[in-house]
Amino acid sequence: MPSTARIALNRPLRRLFDYIVPNGLSLKPGQRVKIPFGRQQAIGLIVDTDVEAPAGITLKPVHSTIEDWPALPEETFQLLSWASNYYQHPLGECLFAALPPAMRRGRPAIEKADDWWLACGSGVALPANAHKQKALLDWIAQHTQGVKGSDIIKAGFSRQQIKALRDKELVRATSPASKSPQSQRHNESTAAPVLSAAQLEAAAQLPSPADGFNTSLLYGITGSGKTEIYLHYLKQNLTASDQALVLVPEINLTPQTVARFQHYFGERILVWHSALNDSERLNAWLKVRNGEPVILIGTRSAALLPFTALKTLVVDEEHDSSYKQGEGFRYSGRDLAVYRAHLNRCPVILGSATPSLESYHNALTGKYRLIRLEERAGKAIPPTISLLDIRSRPLEGGLSRPAMEAIRQTLDSGSQALIFVNRRGFAPVMMCFDCGHMVECPRCDTRLTYHRRDRAMRCHHCDYQAPATETCPKCASEAFKPVGQGTEQTEDILAASFPDTPVVRVDRDSTQRKGSIQSILKQVNSGKPCILVGTQMLAKGHDFPNVTLVIVINADGGLFSVDFRAPEQLIQTLLQVSGRAGRGAKAGKVVVQTCHSDHPLLKTLCHGRYLDIADQLLEERESGQLPPFRAMAIFRAEADTMEQSLKILDSIKPLASMPGIEVWGPLPALIARRADRHRAQLVLNTNNRRNLNRLLTTTCQSLEQERLPKGAKWMVDVDPQETG
Ligand code: ADP
Ligand code: ZN
Ligand code: ZN
Repeated sequence: MPSTARIALNRPLRRLFDYIVPNGLSLKPGQRVKIPFGRQQAIGLIVDTDVEAPAGITLKPVHSTIEDWPALPEETFQLLSWASNYYQHPLGECLFAALPPAMRRGRPAIEKADDWWLACGSGVALPANAHKQKALLDWIAQHTQGVKGSDIIKAGFSRQQIKALRDKELVRATSPASKSPQSQRHNESTAAPVLSAAQLEAAAQLPSPADGFNTSLLYGITGSGKTEIYLHYLKQNLTASDQALVLVPEINLTPQTVARFQHYFGERILVWHSALNDSERLNAWLKVRNGEPVILIGTRSAALLPFTALKTLVVDEEHDSSYKQGEGFRYSGRDLAVYRAHLNRCPVILGSATPSLESYHNALTGKYRLIRLEERAGKAIPPTISLLDIRSRPLEGGLSRPAMEAIRQTLDSGSQALIFVNRRGFAPVMMCFDCGHMVECPRCDTRLTYHRRDRAMRCHHCDYQAPATETCPKCASEAFKPVGQGTEQTEDILAASFPDTPVVRVDRDSTQRKGSIQSILKQVNSGKPCILVGTQMLAKGHDFPNVTLVIVINADGGLFSVDFRAPEQLIQTLLQVSGRAGRGAKAGKVVVQTCHSDHPLLKTLCHGRYLDIADQLLEERESGQLPPFRAMAIFRAEADTMEQSLKILDSIKPLASMPGIEVWGPLPALIARRADRHRAQLVLNTNNRRNLNRLLTTTCQSLEQERLPKGAKWMVDVDPQETG
């Protein structure tokens, strides 16, 4: 009697498929196979072997194996199976998410050798306007031993540019230099950082890997030197054969962090983020799977990688909302890291200056160990924070006169200033002062943002854009003006007010060109007086030692939002951006402009003690019966009409109604129409996570059977970050 294997496919299906295992083929869970599927062949992952074949159905045999070892080792497989159930996402898609894209498509798991390039010193001349190619050629020519293709891409150039130079015979492919210049540089220093007394005290409270599973919440104020503590911990505790995982929110924004790790661990550092190409991903994945003793620094999806010797995990800036995937398999990289540590019986360190209320609550209830580091490293002291009420004050580019004066003083003293604006573009809206018309997105229930640089009106919720008009499109009045504040406008005003000082704008528009955040940071890191203007991108993890003044243009956005997480996120952003001030020898000052200077939350902010605010916010969550005191999940539906969306959710409401589970809705989402799709949601809230999970399973199964109107979709989000 041949045995039967149960197989998962990379499809949004909640079912698995049974196949006969041909004689002589030995299969293990997590292994890749080729199977006949319909008229095609598909790539599958073995979930189970020796299952009982369903009676009365003739099964097809597995075609072949792709490799004779499981692509997903046991612990990774368990992690993903757990996550599939916890997040209610189809197992196949969860398992395939842990493979590099090339392997999802069935490519062999073989390392792709890197290409190397060398300047020829001859060839056809470049046209005068080929600036980028010229820059690349100069850059390659500097590397007399040749340079790796992947390093060329990392430096901000493109494959097309390499090809163009090759076609002109200006560069040629070469064999790898015996040792890359980088690895020589990294080998120089292996000394562990010298920790301050406060850092040592915090580090001493971290558990040893021998203690097994353990979650520590390292609450260290901004600039307290958390990164040095991670480095010290890894240096002390990792043996030569151990693997470690360090999760970071957005690697491209903080090249400094990677550089610091490389400085201490050299070639052992491996990076993982969305800007890697397919072969870089495959190569990194293979190193992890082969058990090489890497210290992997990566974004969210690094939590899914197939480690085989993982001994320590670190989640830096654990509060960051980018750890939660917003679509498809909606997992939290942070929470998977904790579960993974539990499976591996090893320690995990969650670090933040502004811990999430979830993690802080876990620390208060004794689930996590709370370690406090409330002193800045080196000679730096925490910044002072003050509120500046801007009611009835004239503003220019969003800045009040006292704020302008503070900037002037900062520059005069040879320091840098950072201006935090919460919106990119020139102004949030264009408004007609005659008829009151505001230009809306034709595809969403939102208004368009005016971008003056390229005179465009853009929707920040879909990809719609249109040319800006001089006059009101409705009544043709010329009193058609920008209202509200965006980064571009503040940049313009500052450039005009401080003509001798460089003004550097950092937002999604200015950094869209790959690698440009690095060049922007170079200017700031020179330490010379300058003004930084930017969005949240500036708040995250940066270390600008010469910034001594931070101005928050307007703090009020999150104070009155319907999203229950908004106040938490507002305070985290404000404290993180404040934390960019005074990280070097000079003291820092933060000025927060607001129209609500008597708001209790903002008043507590001025004391700068995050945990006091967190206590206050937790009380509100408890009285509102909200997470982290309760478990939440949201069913969302989107369709061509709101009626259809509401109907889908109405159909599951009876299923969801059981004792102990509160059901809110269905209601239209905050932005009810987005890219012409009508969106609704149904919120489930309970104190019994196990019941909630069971209910979600049956509801998802039932929804999957349902025949939906054409184009309609539903999804479930467990532990949602956005509840609008
Ligand atoms: P955090 O991540 O906690 O905000 P960082 O790890 O970025 O802080 O450290 C802040 C700054 O303090 C960095 O410039 C770092 O090099 C410096 N620093 C950290 N530890 C020490 C130390 N023990 N002595 C001197 N400087 C330190
Ligand atoms: Zn008008
Ligand atoms: Zn839109």
